[in-house]
Amino acid sequence: MIVKKEKDQIQDYLKDASNTEGFCDAVFFPESVKDLQDIFKAADEKKIQITVSGNRTGLTGAAVPKGGIVISTAKLNKIIEINKEEKFVVVEPGVLLSDLIKELKSQNLYYPPDPTELNCFIGGVVATNASGSKSFKYGATRSFVSGLEILLPTGELLNLQRGENYADSYEITFQTDKERLIEIDLPEIEIPVTKNAAGFFCKKNMDAIDLFIGSEGTLGVFTKIKLSLLDYPKSIFSTVIFFNEEMNALNFIHDAREFSYNSRKKNRKNTINATALEFFDKNSLKFLKNNYTQIPTNAAGAVWFEQETSPEIEELLINSIAELIEKHNGNFNDSWLALTEKDRTEIENFRHSISAKVNEYITSHNFRKLGTDIAVPDDKLFNFYFQVVNDVKKNNLNYVVYGHFGNSHLHLNMLPKNNIEFMLAQNLYRQFCEDAINLGGTFSAEHGVGKNKKEYLIKMYGAEAVKKMIGIKKKFDSELLLGIGNVFDTEEQN
Ligand SMILES: Cc1cc2nc3c(=O)[nH]c(=O)nc-3n(C[C@H](O)[C@H](O)[C@H](O)COP(=O)(O)OP(=O)(O)OC[C@H]3O[C@@H](n4cnc5c(N)ncnc54)[C@H](O)[C@@H]3O)c2cc1C
Repeated sequence: MIVKKEKDQIQDYLKDASNTEGFCDAVFFPESVKDLQDIFKAADEKKIQITVSGNRTGLTGAAVPKGGIVISTAKLNKIIEINKEEKFVVVEPGVLLSDLIKELKSQNLYYPPDPTELNCFIGGVVATNASGSKSFKYGATRSFVSGLEILLPTGELLNLQRGENYADSYEITFQTDKERLIEIDLPEIEIPVTKNAAGFFCKKNMDAIDLFIGSEGTLGVFTKIKLSLLDYPKSIFSTVIFFNEEMNALNFIHDAREFSYNSRKKNRKNTINATALEFFDKNSLKFLKNNYTQIPTNAAGAVWFEQETSPEIEELLINSIAELIEKHNGNFNDSWLALTEKDRTEIENFRHSISAKVNEYITSHNFRKLGTDIAVPDDKLFNFYFQVVNDVKKNNLNYVVYGHFGNSHLHLNMLPKNNIEFMLAQNLYRQFCEDAINLGGTFSAEHGVGKNKKEYLIKMYGAEAVKKMIGIKKKFDSELLLGIGNVFDTEEQN
């Protein structure tokens, strides 16, 4: 097993895409469960803390160590089985999402949850319950995880298959491979109605596997992951529509969303039923203009609309969308329509480039990312959007807003130029998270809590519920060695 200790060898493991920084003594690269068990045994004997690292594209500092050692899953990177008949795949945690998607596509199989950044590992995706543009139709990673093998800090394995072990009300019993029983009590929390990736998933009578999805490297290390799959869509319609008035873009999203919900409810196949409904504000378009000169100069907002289709319904669908664009005064002539798969990938890259450019900005200015990951109930989205934008404008801060507006999920990124602006932005950020929670939404719809957003978990669920989550962690990791500093501060339990 490779172990790296030199400063220049380990520096990449001390930072993630949020620009959160940390430190550690060594990075281990296990190649088997046995290697992992050896690391855990040695760490347990010496009481050394362990941080699990995927590909460090996370945006909350969750993979960034604050001492101890790092376990990189990069060498646990095999696709173990692709089953075309039963439509599932079994992988090791270090498989790169982009590689998996490519391999599945070559076999006409489809794994929809795409966290915009495809340069991440499946282990990281499951540990954060990542979601993305297609979650508007398909939900988050959770909806596709059907089995997990998990190595606990005790060196025991847990094997969980979806549908096999349910909570009895708020109590779950797990059995390890050593036949030890672990009994846990779930906190009785009110989960937001929105997309949500904050804290442990806890729900009455829930499937036991769901506790681990989104647990951010705090309960165990995923060593095998089984994902359910779909057939690859026959055809995908993708367009970026520009609007000269922002309100028109927002109303287009509103209507397209209502259409989509209706189509799903009534099982209609030949009309609008979007897979992705993504928004870009005027500032995002300006921010990207150097890289995408074809963005119309007078655009006040844009919407990326994507829908799976088939040759039989394509014409009807295009007509329905054209009607909707016309109704909301969309800029037909300058809009982008993907006619080939290459065009479609370019649109996906366009969406990715705004997130990537923001991350480049904060890294080059050496600030931590101050981008909201907020979702609010659908009927609250527009008022909330106008309120946060007004607050940022009043404080004269540069900003961009984009994101998964179909899911009422917005990434407002403040772009401070100096420390004073950073502090101002930090205060606003705190206010926005609290406002979203008060509206029945979440401060973390997809990125998780990590090391940077712990205060909001307490605001959202209350100190008692968080204490119970810490209690759950202690049942799996009594020595408090794994993923310490993620999700909550374990000392809060005392
Ligand atoms: C440009 C950009 C755009 C992004 N857009 C999105 C988006 O749209 N939606 C979204 O959800 N996210 C998005 N992200 C965030 C990020 O890509 C996801 O959170 C991703 O799932 C993290 O995967 P990773 O392999 O990089 O994990 P890391 O960042 O390395 O780790 C994340 C967490 O997973 C844990 N972990 C990793 N592997 C394991 C394992 N085997 N067992 C247990 N725990 C493990 C780590 O300990 C850590 O807590 C974006 C990031 C960037 C840079």
